[in-house]
Amino acid sequence: MTHIVILGSGFAALTAIRRLREQRLDADITVVSPRNELVYLPSLIWLPSGEKTSDDLRIPLADFFRRERVAWHVGSALQVLDGGRRVVTDHGELRNDYLIVATGGQYLRKLPGIEHALIPCEGIASAEAIRDRLAAMEGGTIAIGFASNPKEPGAVRGGPMFEFLFGIDTLLRRQGRRAKFKLVFFNPSKEPGQRLGPTAVQKMLARMQKLGIETHLGHKPVRFEAGKVVTEGGEFGADLILFMPGLTGPAWLDDSDLPRSEGGFVAADKHCLARGMDKVYVAGDIGSYPGPDWMAKQAHQADLQAEAVAKNIAADLRGEPANHGFNTELVCIVDSLDSGLLIYRSESRTFTSPHSRMLHWLKRKFEDRYLKAYR
Ligand SMILES: Cc1cc2nc3c(=O)[nH]c(=O)nc-3n(C[C@H](O)[C@H](O)[C@H](O)COP(=O)(O)OP(=O)(O)OC[C@H]3O[C@@H](n4cnc5c(N)ncnc54)[C@H](O)[C@@H]3O)c2cc1C
Repeated sequence: MTHIVILGSGFAALTAIRRLREQRLDADITVVSPRNELVYLPSLIWLPSGEKTSDDLRIPLADFFRRERVAWHVGSALQVLDGGRRVVTDHGELRNDYLIVATGGQYLRKLPGIEHALIPCEGIASAEAIRDRLAAMEGGTIAIGFASNPKEPGAVRGGPMFEFLFGIDTLLRRQGRRAKFKLVFFNPSKEPGQRLGPTAVQKMLARMQKLGIETHLGHKPVRFEAGKVVTEGGEFGADLILFMPGLTGPAWLDDSDLPRSEGGFVAADKHCLARGMDKVYVAGDIGSYPGPDWMAKQAHQADLQAEAVAKNIAADLRGEPANHGFNTELVCIVDSLDSGLLIYRSESRTFTSPHSRMLHWLKRKFEDRYLKAYR
């Protein structure tokens, strides 16, 4: 029987499983992943306020794997060899007829003094550390910023940093202690978050001004020190630094036979096929795909790529052309804990909504709905 091996059990991998099964293929599916759980990363922003707990964000996958007839190979991929047909993991080797690479990206940790900053998007432990640091602070300066991968500027995770910024502002106001804190937003660009579209940038900068959030824009960060952010345009004191560096491909790619992009990701074509390879597909944050420069490293985009991958594998198995592509779409609600801003971008349209309380609740509802498939 055809054997499909999927590396990872995040958004892209799980969508690929669902879409492959919808195609009613006669195939064995093996997932290689260190943990059989999905961490619902978009809700990390609600950990510092206690609106969510880590248990809310960890979705066990054992039942989902059983329902979808997926074998779980416990372990981490270390190498992809022999043109993609052989995967070496820390718990043995696997061969495959089709490979889907979906193990996500990693954050660049090159900035000197990065150990003085918390990287909020790294996962549950970081978001909980922010919660605990905030609770322990009696006042002071909180600096929040992000940067991109200089070799692949689209590899940036800015949206969630706006959410941490606005969320912390709301939290401190709720607690009646906002006046004791200075919030400073810093970014190398004068117009941070451009991929979200010019209107969104203007709206977010206007909101910062309205909320009394200071900005330090247009200066590249040079280093962090204990209690200090140093940029090319000057330095400022900070008792807590939250920083999101740019993204790159995971370290395990260095020992693999997979094609790389400038920024260190797996280079894929418009059908999500790893460039120059046969039956090796890529989906989600780990890939570098042709398309507009605002293409986001987002769960929504990962889902669209995974869907194209499943269709292409199904087409190939049926002897049809595997030429399915994916739409480039950016959809997000930038949440502020009590309200939100909806941003939508496609190749034909860009839309930014006004701020609305309803959008906060819509984001919460969306999570419930999205996770139903895995519960
Ligand atoms: C705070 C935050 C907020 C966000 N908000 C949004 C949002 O509102 N909307 C949105 O669309 N996106 C959002 N995103 C982005 C979204 O979470 C990512 O784009 C998405 O997780 C990418 O999915 P993925 O499957 O490519 O990778 P991941 O979700 O990172 O999954 C990677 C998987 O691979 C596994 N893995 C890692 N290494 C190995 C290995 N060597 N071998 C095997 N398995 C491995 C991991 O355990 C994991 O299961 C947010 C991200 C963060 C951090």
